[in-house]
Amino acid sequence: THFGFQTVDKGDKASMVAGVFHSVAKQYDIMNDLMSLGIHRLWKRFTIDASGVRPGNKVLDLAGGTGDLTAKFSKIVGQEGKVILADINSSMLNVGRDKLRDKGLVQNIEYVQANAEALPFEDNSFDIVTIAFGLRNVTDKDKALRSIYRVLKPGGRLLVLEFSKPEHEILNKVYDFYSFNILPKMGEFVAKDSESYQYLAESIRMHPDQDTLKAMMDDAGFEQTTYHNLTGGIVALHKGFKF
Ligand code: SAM
Repeated sequence: THFGFQTVDKGDKASMVAGVFHSVAKQYDIMNDLMSLGIHRLWKRFTIDASGVRPGNKVLDLAGGTGDLTAKFSKIVGQEGKVILADINSSMLNVGRDKLRDKGLVQNIEYVQANAEALPFEDNSFDIVTIAFGLRNVTDKDKALRSIYRVLKPGGRLLVLEFSKPEHEILNKVYDFYSFNILPKMGEFVAKDSESYQYLAESIRMHPDQDTLKAMMDDAGFEQTTYHNLTGGIVALHKGFKF
C-alpha cells in the first residue's frame, strides 16, 4: 500500500497517523455514520452504560476526536463533574470543540492535546478513562496502557472500545471484503481520500484480538479485566479496574 503500514518504524507510524487524522477530521463524523451504517452510535451508547459513570465523576475521553463520548459523559457528570477530551491531533480537537460548543456543551469540558503514551495528568486523577477507536492508532500500546493506569484513581476503570476479531469465519470474510474493497472506495467517493481509509482497514487487521488485548491490560496492571463482543466481535469493549 501507499503507507507500507507493516514495515514503517515508530516515528513514521506516528506521523502517518497524524496525516490521516488531519486529512479526515472535517469529514470524520459523516464517514463514521456511513461506514458503520450508524451502528457506532449504539457501540458508544453501550460504552457509556458499561462505564457506570455517575454525576460528579471526572472522566478522561482519550483519543476523543470529535467528542461523541465526551458529549454523552458531559450531560451525566453534571456541574460537579468534569470531562477532559484529549487527543494528539489538533484538527480532530478543533472539529470536536466546535461541534460540542455548537451543542451548547461548555460548562464541564476541557480540551487537551496529548499523546496517550505520555499523559500530562497527575497520578490518580480520573474515575473513568475511555479510549474509543483510538488504541489501534497508538504506536506503543503497552506504554499507553501503563500511562492510563497511572492517571486512574484507585477504584477507577478503563474502557477500550475498538475493532476486534469477528467471532465467525464467514463474518470475518465478509468483513475483510468490506474493509479492503468497499471502504476505501467510499473513502474515495465521499472524502476524496482512499488512502486514509485503506490505512483504517489495515490498522484494524493489525490490531490485537480480544484475548491479546485483555492480556495486555492485565500486564499493565489492570484487574478484573473482561471484554464484551459487539456486532459479532467486529467491535469489542474491554474493561479493567485499578484497585
Ligand atoms: N474517539 C473518537 C470516536 O470514537 O469517534 C475518535 C476516534 S478516531 C478513529 C481516533 C483518534 O485517535 C484520532 O482523533 C487520533 O488523532 C487519535 N490518536 C491517535 N493516536 C493518538 C495518541 N497517540 N494519543 C492520543 N490520541 C491519538
